[in-house]
Amino acid sequence: MNFDLTEEQVMVQEMARNFAEKEIAPYIEEDEENHHYRREILTKMGENGLLGWSMPEEYGGNGMGWMEAVIALYEIAKVHTSWRLSISGNCWGPAMTINHWGTTEQKEKYIPGLLDGSAVGSFAITEANSGSDVGSMKTTAVDKGDHFLMNGSKMWISGGHTSNTGLVFAVTAEGGGAQGLSCFIIDYDNTPGITRIPIHTKVGMWPAPTSELVFENAEIPKENLLGPLNKGFQICMWMLNNTRMGCATGAAALSAAALEGAVAYANERIQFGKQIGKFQMIQQQITEMKLEDEAARYLVLQAAWLKENGRPSQQETSMAKLYGCKAAVNAANLAMKIYGSYGYSTEYPCGRWLRDAKQFETLEGTSNIHTGIIAGIELGYQPNR
Ligand SMILES: Cc1cc2nc3c(=O)[nH]c(=O)nc-3n(C[C@H](O)[C@H](O)[C@H](O)COP(=O)(O)OP(=O)(O)OC[C@H]3O[C@@H](n4cnc5c(N)ncnc54)[C@H](O)[C@@H]3O)c2cc1C
Repeated sequence: MNFDLTEEQVMVQEMARNFAEKEIAPYIEEDEENHHYRREILTKMGENGLLGWSMPEEYGGNGMGWMEAVIALYEIAKVHTSWRLSISGNCWGPAMTINHWGTTEQKEKYIPGLLDGSAVGSFAITEANSGSDVGSMKTTAVDKGDHFLMNGSKMWISGGHTSNTGLVFAVTAEGGGAQGLSCFIIDYDNTPGITRIPIHTKVGMWPAPTSELVFENAEIPKENLLGPLNKGFQICMWMLNNTRMGCATGAAALSAAALEGAVAYANERIQFGKQIGKFQMIQQQITEMKLEDEAARYLVLQAAWLKENGRPSQQETSMAKLYGCKAAVNAANLAMKIYGSYGYSTEYPCGRWLRDAKQFETLEGTSNIHTGIIAGIELGYQPNR
């Protein structure tokens, strides 16, 4: 077993770290305050090859795989977790799913823009009354001969109103469920009948746009069906096993950012004539953060390695996501305590860490859902895919 990064991985790590410091860090406070999505950062991510992981070079892939991807995403998310969404929203969501399930025409038409950053990607599964229970979605796509007619709505869609190319899952057979959903590629710039409503009430992730989508007789061309008809549930689960790596890596990175901040503060803050880091109870908190942080990072690397080598990875991905979110929420919480009153002030990032960490407990499978996946595989009730 080798814990060293390769020369190429070290270069990727440095490049992503420099990118985040130069292109994201200077705008954090301004964008937090204004809930502003800085579109040009995505363009620059594309220009720097930060969107093209595990994708064929003929469509704009960067020639690197899952290990390099999580190493790069970690550096970006450590600076601001909202920007981790761009890699899931463009590469691991629509681009990778189109590459696996799509036709040559679909790949040629949609993947290059998602990887070079000229298009914003998204994937829409959730509805107001259908979250964890994906099979209960109600949005329909009815076959009308040369097109499908889509009606219904989606909720909490990352990048929904900024997206150019997105995947939307809808009911195509009576009753929906695991046998009755299909996946569609949506060209948002050229599809009338879709209203996109920004959601401004999120507790955190303020620079990351989230939306409600309403479909009213939206005509989706036949050729935009992705994969076989009524195989949408399987496509959705296949995709989530990839996009969840964005959550897992983002959570581990947030935990590291909070730990790093807490260590710096504990070494700087003097009370009772000494650095607060010298007090055993602060040391106990730092140790707890450090242990969870390391474990979260190694779980991410293990899941990435399995994906890289084409091995089953669903249980390991769920473990990385579930444990990462526990580490992130605990680290953000402890960091706020260690910073004292300054932690409770917007002058320091503790509030942002805590707000942003809570996302991981809900999206792309809640903590309960991942607990069920891990146990279900362990107990032999389902295979590890
Ligand atoms: C910031 C943000 C971004 C998002 N981005 C996207 C996106 O890009 N695309 C998209 O499609 N969706 C997106 N979502 C939606 C997200 O994936 C869903 O919110 C999530 O799947 C949970 O669904 P729900 O909110 O309806 O909760 P529910 O499913 O209603 O769950 C409510 C509670 O019940 C529990 N519960 C439900 N079922 C079970 C069960 N079987 N066993 C035990 N407990 C259970 C849950 O764990 C949770 O605690 C986003 C959400 C957020 C907050």
